Amino acid sequence: MVTIPTVTLNDGTDFPELGLGTYNLRGAEGVDAITAAITGGYRLLDSAVNYTNEAEVGEAVRRSGIRDELIVTTKLPGRHHGYDETIASAAGSLERMGLERIDLYLIHWPNPSVDKYVDTWRAMIELRERGTVRSIGVSNFTEAMLTRLIDETGITPAVNQVELHPYFPQAALREFHSARGIRTESWSPLARRSELLTEPVLAEAAAAHGVTPTQVVLRWHTQLGSTPIPKSADPDRQRENADVFGFTLTDAEVAAISALERGRLWGADPETHEEM
Ligand code: NAP
Repeated sequence: MVTIPTVTLNDGTDFPELGLGTYNLRGAEGVDAITAAITGGYRLLDSAVNYTNEAEVGEAVRRSGIRDELIVTTKLPGRHHGYDETIASAAGSLERMGLERIDLYLIHWPNPSVDKYVDTWRAMIELRERGTVRSIGVSNFTEAMLTRLIDETGITPAVNQVELHPYFPQAALREFHSARGIRTESWSPLARRSELLTEPVLAEAAAAHGVTPTQVVLRWHTQLGSTPIPKSADPDRQRENADVFGFTLTDAEVAAISALERGRLWGADPETHEEM
């Protein structure tokens, strides 16, 4: 079992430096895959209403016998934006998961044309005060959107989960996060197993450290100060992905990997891309 180190969020919570993505992990196989990850040392799980797998995540958590060591994330969908809708949506998530608390609750997409993310955020704050939710954060928020949340409510998100991989390193946004005490979380950290993993610069670093290109990418995330949430259904690949804390990339290696930058891979610009 791997021990994944933690950092402290701006609300005082210990937060793993790496977690498990669960998109497409569903059904009995999904529960088994999530259970394997927990057994292998993963403590942060990333779900969402729109992944339709909150029940599977909850089942694996309840089976684990270590519920209080786990940070269970779920995300509020666009169609539930609004104060009352958010309170009701959280209750629905808890019921599907069969849990008494959401550990990290994120607004999945800002959907700026709907213009309800500030009201949604106020409800998140209320849910945290009630103890229904431990940590609150957002996903796919820009610097301007984060600034608006903070200015209008006085409460800074603990986390912003965004597209981040060597093809899209998000340097400016990460700098803003670090100035405001927001933890960056990387979605699609492996760029969904695109040609990224065959980049020569990764092969070189992998050979230098005796690890795999995938491990180089995930270590790059952690050294940038972001928590990657690689998804794998396979226990061996889950183990490979979590075992990245026994080596350190040089500054030159980190810079060379960041130089792979080419932009967003799927056109999901939060100013224009909206999900319900
Ligand atoms: P990803 O984690 O970058 O890549 C997952 C793909 O890589 C899967 O096909 C997986 O296949 C493969 N893989 C994993 N480990 C590997 C390894 N060691 N060697 C070779 N291939 C490997 O992509 P993602 O699932 O899109 O992103 C991760 C998580 O981020 C999601 O699951 C979800 O929780 C979250 N997410 C959030 C948002 C958002 O808007 N907030 C958007 C997208 C994703 P196997 O399963 O077969 O190993």
